[in-house]
Amino acid sequence: MPLQIEIDPHAGFCFGVVNAIQKAEQALSAGERLYCLGDIVHNEAEVARLAAMGLRVVDHEAYAQLHDSKVLLRAHGEPPSTYRTAEAHRLQLLDATCPVVLQLQRRISQVYRQRPQVQIAIYGKYGHAEVNGLVGQTEGKAVVLEQASDVDRLDPERDTVLFSQTTKSGEGYEAMIRAVRDYLHAGTSLEHHDTICRQVAGRMRQMREFAQAHDVVLFVCGAKSSNGRILMENCRRYNPHTYFVSSVEDVRTEWLEGVSSVGISGATSTALSQMEELRNALLNRL
Ligand code: SF4
Repeated sequence: MPLQIEIDPHAGFCFGVVNAIQKAEQALSAGERLYCLGDIVHNEAEVARLAAMGLRVVDHEAYAQLHDSKVLLRAHGEPPSTYRTAEAHRLQLLDATCPVVLQLQRRISQVYRQRPQVQIAIYGKYGHAEVNGLVGQTEGKAVVLEQASDVDRLDPERDTVLFSQTTKSGEGYEAMIRAVRDYLHAGTSLEHHDTICRQVAGRMRQMREFAQAHDVVLFVCGAKSSNGRILMENCRRYNPHTYFVSSVEDVRTEWLEGVSSVGISGATSTALSQMEELRNALLNRL
């Protein structure tokens, strides 16, 4: 029987990434000189494609040296200091902060300004661009919790408001809520907000069915993608024969021995075209 290969119908860029890429493409096609603060998406192939169109990636250090230039802010969002630099240096911002992230930034900022008595905690990855943008809403005071053992960074005597980075898993967040609750002393309150992106949460649910429907799943994503790692781990839970690949060269022959169906999936930062390329390359290799 010929090998069946199916691309996950729910995979492909999320709307936040599509929006950022479209903004970059429009400006570059109009011949504008455009800088991007950080990689536009955790996807090496897409970064290289846009670099070939003229997009210049700068880090925060190089950004601080720019003047009178146009700069794209990617979907992850930025702290207020980035906007202050733009104003001081007459930078024109093409702001592609995802509306979901923007909304979360506003909620955190509101709690910080209106309720100074509470401590704000963020369940997320240290140093991740989105998390830096969120912590920036609190003048650096929010406590980042990456794993349960980090709860000792909190003051157990203070009322606490907990938010999650948009791309974390619901299960991980539930476990963190329990860990924080156990750590806080009796009489203190814990308020937690479900701020996980619906697009990511939806993918987690749909992935189970997709992963279980195939003998092997090839998961395409960039090594730096935070949601990619989470989605892939989720996929592997339902199908232990799940492998991370960035191109057909990574696919080992033994993975496909005796296999009749292969699923191809990816992160919210994986382009549909990359998954199609992998499928076509696999078909050519058969
Ligand atoms: S994963 Fe969700 S929050 Fe993040 S950029 Fe995509 S749509 Fe926005």
